Amino acid sequence: MSPNADRVMIFDTTLRDGEQSPGCSMTQPEKLRVAKALADLGVDVIEAGFPAASPGDWESVNAVAREVEGPIICGLARCNRGDIEKAASALRPAARHRIHVFLATSAIHREYKLNMAKEEILRNAVAGVKIAREFCEDIEFSPEDASRTELDFLAQVVEAVIDAGATTVNIPDTVGYTVPHEFAELFRYLRKNVRNIDRARLSVHCHDDLGMAVANSLMAVVNGARQVECTINGIGERAGNCSLEEVVMALRTRETFFNARTGIHTERLYPVSRLVSSITGMPIPRNKAVVGENAFAHESGIHQHGMLKHASTYEIMRPQDVGLTRSSLVLGKHSGRHALRERIRELGFELDDAEFARVFEEFKVLADRKKELFDGDIEALVLRAEGGDQGPWTLSGLRTGSQGGVGEATVSLQHADGRKVERSATGDGPVDAAFKAIEQATGLNPKLRKFELRSLSEGEDAQGEAVVYVDFRDRSYRGASATTDIVESATRAFLEVINRIEQSQRAQAVA
Ligand SMILES: [Zn+2]
Repeated sequence: MSPNADRVMIFDTTLRDGEQSPGCSMTQPEKLRVAKALADLGVDVIEAGFPAASPGDWESVNAVAREVEGPIICGLARCNRGDIEKAASALRPAARHRIHVFLATSAIHREYKLNMAKEEILRNAVAGVKIAREFCEDIEFSPEDASRTELDFLAQVVEAVIDAGATTVNIPDTVGYTVPHEFAELFRYLRKNVRNIDRARLSVHCHDDLGMAVANSLMAVVNGARQVECTINGIGERAGNCSLEEVVMALRTRETFFNARTGIHTERLYPVSRLVSSITGMPIPRNKAVVGENAFAHESGIHQHGMLKHASTYEIMRPQDVGLTRSSLVLGKHSGRHALRERIRELGFELDDAEFARVFEEFKVLADRKKELFDGDIEALVLRAEGGDQGPWTLSGLRTGSQGGVGEATVSLQHADGRKVERSATGDGPVDAAFKAIEQATGLNPKLRKFELRSLSEGEDAQGEAVVYVDFRDRSYRGASATTDIVESATRAFLEVINRIEQSQRAQAVA
């Protein structure tokens, strides 16, 4: 490690930008789980959400602020007092917190979205930063769509918000439009033309619409950015954000080139990547840089020959540096607590003793039904033990069958308030019948958008995972469940969706 390398802060926005992307919504316990893993990973800042967006968002940011130690906890706000007060109150319990205010500056956004002239933008940006300073010393400002903003106006806004008290100025390529050389120019321009630029930390926030989010972020670092905003697995709006694991490993692998380093414990990258993928249901492509299944697989004979002689012939990073354990050790009914606990940790989960005891019980039951348990099986057990069956509805009985092409199902449900409901229905096959019976029992009729089945591991006795995507009152929900019976998996996945809808409606009613 070069002693003179500059420290680059890693600002993770998996829980805000990542979570707001389609199909990636997380429940509050899931967000807490991810936030704790991010703290273990060593990120400097966690953007936990947008507290003014909904009461549920406020609750989640507040829970992270209360329970997660280590990183600075950040909340997003528009430049108005209402938003900023909500962010401040949600963040209050955190030992260190930051308010992130934003306002679009580009001509397109000024004209079509905000209907504001330049002077008004300038005034509002300064006012937003000043209001935020009433609550907090650590203020970040983002001129949204900065990469399509006139350079002289951008410089004017940046200078004004720094004078108003912004301690970090973040330059977003909101629409993923810029290219590395142009973006480098933009950073050089700001450093040359903003009088007080040394009084704030420069930050970068890139989107991957043209596949250049990581490259653009690195060019920003070369040209003075000392904070990179990114997400695990690059999840985020549209094509996603700059991927945390890629930008971190690029800085580490080429440290002497960039002369910059991060505080990330890179051996935690793979576990956190798996965790976020299994919670959001967003799969990691096999060929994904750094954390893809094939990222360290060498197939060709020539490559394998070279690797055997010396790993560095074809390997620029070592798998263990990113936490990839090469063990293909399969767990089974004779595996003990210690082996299971180790594997769960390698997969990115941190369980307390009570949670682990629940998972171990289920593990033994499953191991009796199934000879070998693979990583996918273990992940399903952990997720089920900690989130899937949280209610308010639980499944207490399921009978299905089909006759002459017509599916039949009888579903018995129990509600946390004590109600017990049983309904029977028919449909196109037993899965359709079970969904209809649940709709009748709960009185909720979401629109089914997509239904996926996949095998979580190998063998005839593999667990089948069912994933259900629905729309309900302008929002998308996702539910997943895995058991060794496909119809039961599908029924449980659909019930999870119903539970998420009820939970979010309750959260909204609390407002
Ligand atoms: Zn973004």
